[in-house]
Amino acid sequence: MSRHVLVTGASRGIGAAIAEHFIALGDHVVALSRSGDAPAGVARAVAVDVTDSVALNDAVKSAIDEFGPVEVCVANAGVTRDGLAMRMSDEQWREVLSINLDGAFYTARAAMASMVRQRRGSIIFIGSVSPFMGVPGQANYAAAKAGLVGLARALAKEVATRQITVNVVAPGLIETDMTSDLGPAKAAMEAMIPAGHSGQPSDIAGVVGFLASNHARYITGVVLSVDGGLSLGH
Ligand code: NAP
Repeated sequence: MSRHVLVTGASRGIGAAIAEHFIALGDHVVALSRSGDAPAGVARAVAVDVTDSVALNDAVKSAIDEFGPVEVCVANAGVTRDGLAMRMSDEQWREVLSINLDGAFYTARAAMASMVRQRRGSIIFIGSVSPFMGVPGQANYAAAKAGLVGLARALAKEVATRQITVNVVAPGLIETDMTSDLGPAKAAMEAMIPAGHSGQPSDIAGVVGFLASNHARYITGVVLSVDGGLSLGH
C-alpha cells in the first residue's frame, strides 16, 4: 500500500534522491523545500521554509488531509555556513542552527501527532558525521547536527510504545551542491575516506528507505553513519 512520505529539502541533492527512492516504491511523496522544486512523480511539492513553523504546520496538515497520516517523515533540509568560530557572526550561527535543528524539530513535531494516532511511523533525521569528527570551521553545523542526535534519542523513547521509530542517518562526504565548492579541501577529505571515494545521494536514500521499512521496525534511537568509513578516523 502507498505510504504518505514527507521529505524536506527534496528539491535537490540527498533529499531529491530520497524522494525518488520512495516514488519508485509507489509511495505518495510530499516534497518540501524553499524553492518548491521537486523530482518528477511527487504527489505534491510545496514551497515552504522549515524555519517557519506556522507555514510548515499548515503544509503538513494540508498534506495529511489529502494523503492521510504521515507514515515516513524525513527531516533532510540543511545548510552549511562554514567559518572559524572566532570570526563566526551571530547570523551564521543562528541560520545553521535554525534550519538544521529547529527546522528538523518543527518537521517531526508536525508529522508526529498523525503517526501517534495511527500507531505506526518512522522519523528519520539527516545528520552528519561532522559532530563525531570535529571539523574545524563547522562549529555551527556540528552543534546543530549533534543536537539532532539528542532530539532523536529523546523522541525515540517518547513514541516507542506507539510503534514509531526515530533514527539519525549521518552521511559522510556526498556529491551534491553542498559539497561542490569545497575546493582543495574536498580532495583532502576524500583522501581520508577508507573506501577511497565520496558517496552519492542514492547511497543515503537506500539507507533511509531501509530505516523506513518493516525490516527496521525494531531499530530506534540509533545513529547510522553512511560514510565509507570516514568517521572511523585514522
Ligand atoms: P543541498 O544539495 O545543498 O540541498 C539542500 C536542500 O535543503 C535543498 O533541497 C534546499 O531546498 C533545502 N533547504 C535548505 N534550506 C531550507 C529551508 N530553510 N527550508 C526548506 N528547505 C531548505 O544539500 P545536500 O547535500 O543534499 O544535504 C541534504 C542534507 O544532508 C542536509 O541536512 C545536510 O546537512 C546533510 N549532509 C550532507 C552531506 C554532504 O556531503 N552533501 C554530508 C552530511 C550531511 P531549496 O534550495 O529549494 O530551498
